[in-house]
Amino acid sequence: MGEELTEPGGGVRLYTEASLGSDVVVTLGDSQTHYLITVMRAKAGDHLRLFNGRDGEWQARVAEAVKRGCKLKCEVQTAPQCEVPDLWLVFAPVKKTPADYLTQKATELGVRVLQPMLTHRTIVRRVNIERMHANAVEAAEQSGRVSVPDVRDAVEFERLLAAWPADRRILFCDESGEAPSIVEALREAPGGSWAIFTGPEGGFDASERARLRTLSNTIPVSLGERILRADTAALSALAVWQAIKGDWRQP
Ligand code: SAH
Repeated sequence: MGEELTEPGGGVRLYTEASLGSDVVVTLGDSQTHYLITVMRAKAGDHLRLFNGRDGEWQARVAEAVKRGCKLKCEVQTAPQCEVPDLWLVFAPVKKTPADYLTQKATELGVRVLQPMLTHRTIVRRVNIERMHANAVEAAEQSGRVSVPDVRDAVEFERLLAAWPADRRILFCDESGEAPSIVEALREAPGGSWAIFTGPEGGFDASERARLRTLSNTIPVSLGERILRADTAALSALAVWQAIKGDWRQP
């Protein structure tokens, strides 16, 4: 009889792009096979869980524990497909290590879309989307999500705003001291679709701040008196949003 494969954080969960369903057999690629067979020492009959962002989460059994193209067979659905709240993070990219951290933590906090945005003062202008996606997958696997956030290509500030969806509110993190507290502002604001905007280490410039405020759906907010690093600001705003508008509340 196979066992449940466990990691320090709980059972092994893997993201796959394959379709999942009763008795469906999934063949893993090289890196997931290596992880499962060599690192986790999985044997035929062992159990783990799979998700693909479409079909919910499935318990699967290792059908063939081979070193190439390990095969898993889906048994029962263990969670239905469900979406995280409709929240995007639009952020000026940061250096490599903080970027990995930001992607992982934003995924854990339940963001739906990660949108890098190039502002005037953005120094890091090259964004490694594949690396961001890999970090998002890893964080989704360990946090129990059944979806991976959509990592979008970096876009210039003005291009992004020119095509901005009219019904998506912008929570503009503004360190100038002129904006009301994020807590009061969100308590009074409606629900629906939102995006959190955070600037680069040098902040948004005056023209960008003015431009953001021209949009009728922008709500400028303060995250307190201290100036936070860009990654701290983004993650703090995500946590406050989840607490007031998102899925940290009682259903
Ligand atoms: N202008 C700054 C620092 C920018 S901090 C300077 O003195 O150099 C980077 C980003 O984090 C800002 O653009 C803003 O979006 C967000 N941020 C940091 N601290 C904040 C605060 N106290 N309130 C709201 N947003 C903040």
